[in-house]
Amino acid sequence: MTVVRTPLVVGNWKMNGSFEANRALIEALLIALAQKTAPDVGVCPPFPYLPQVGALLAGTNVRWGAQTVCEHRTGAYTGQVSASMLRDLGCTYAIVGHSERRQFCGETDEQVSLQAVAALDSGLTPIICVGESAEEEAAGKTLAVIDRQLAPVLATLAGVADEGKGVVIAYEPVWAIGTGKTPTPEGVQAVHAHIRERLMAAGLVQTRILYGGSVKGSNAATLFALPDVDGGLIGGAALDALDFSTICTAAAIRAV
Ligand code: PEP
Repeated sequence: MTVVRTPLVVGNWKMNGSFEANRALIEALLIALAQKTAPDVGVCPPFPYLPQVGALLAGTNVRWGAQTVCEHRTGAYTGQVSASMLRDLGCTYAIVGHSERRQFCGETDEQVSLQAVAALDSGLTPIICVGESAEEEAAGKTLAVIDRQLAPVLATLAGVADEGKGVVIAYEPVWAIGTGKTPTPEGVQAVHAHIRERLMAAGLVQTRILYGGSVKGSNAATLFALPDVDGGLIGGAALDALDFSTICTAAAIRAV
């Protein structure tokens, strides 16, 4: 069977936005994307803005999603948001295990894998983030860290439907997030090839692997041309409609 992995670009807005700014950003983005060939595209605003963003994007090709999701289905989890609630809001995606959640909210590898399962069970596509810190990279531990983070995910997702088509992995070196630094293209490809090997061994041949960490319009084409990079998870540049649409085009060109 031929495996076709449609490129995907997802914007992580983090804790940014306002009704006014969101409207301006989405309107500008839709205009910019209308003039270009786009891959699969999604944006992940903060929870309170999901209804607004969903309404602005309804009827377009751009999907929306959340920046995290609770691993529990329902109950006494004050402040948490479940996957079924996100589905009610029309979400397609749920980012899980972003390094800022791991760092600031103490999320563990096991918890992240349960969040991914909760997302999948509600029909959401989890975007599962993995990546090493600067210290781990300097100590040559990148692949070991990735393996540790992926292990519970692969154990829980092995045998999932459609050979993992509804699952996305994002490789995001922590030291590249918001810093303007990126690994060399060879470095990115080496980690993605390693992740691909692990996914293939678990039967997840359709799973897309995004790169995230200081992707901009100026470096997206180089990164997305790498054989095991299926698109990007974009932070800062997702708040600039032109830059984000340029990144989307770079992913679309890769698809041709
Ligand atoms: C991110 O936070 O997921 C991210 C990739 O951020 P940035 O693009 O700003 O490095």
